[in-house]
Amino acid sequence: MTNAILDRLIEGNARYLNASFNPGDCSGARRRETAENGQHPCAIVICCADSRVVPESIFSAGLGELFVIRVAGNVLDDHQLGSIEYAAAHLGCRLILMLGHTGCGAVSAALSGHAEGYIRYITDEIQRAVGDERDPDAACRLNVLHGVETIRQAFREHPEIPSEGLELRGAVYDIRSGAVEWL
Ligand SMILES: [Zn+2]
Repeated sequence: MTNAILDRLIEGNARYLNASFNPGDCSGARRRETAENGQHPCAIVICCADSRVVPESIFSAGLGELFVIRVAGNVLDDHQLGSIEYAAAHLGCRLILMLGHTGCGAVSAALSGHAEGYIRYITDEIQRAVGDERDPDAACRLNVLHGVETIRQAFREHPEIPSEGLELRGAVYDIRSGAVEWL
């Protein structure tokens, strides 16, 4: 089941690389079907709010296929974890994908150490994830893996969340090539 979902995302990304528009189904018929029968997304995707990182396009997905949580730097706090819990427990999602991306401004801001205001809440979390790493691509990967571990820990601390058969994956999206590298 989970492998089939993973294959669906890998295949969707391959189609995206050669597409000039998102081939996902956003038709009126699909809209009416999901409105009447509810949503049954196959995967939860946590990713950056960066306008170049659009999960539905990246995976050639249409309406009702992905449960997407977007926040700058793909960091996690209780609101995001609550959203993940909801989708896992009530929508039946069996795959959680933490998706970082190259050229992430939040990661760069964390590495520079010059963030101010509310942005600090994001960069402090990324700094905790990356430690002394100063290479942006390596830091991005560490941030993704930190996110995966944070979710894993949340499931350990909350056994009431149905985590059986739930797969957690990390990946990095290349904003230039469009390819997803699975970690
Ligand atoms: Zn970003």
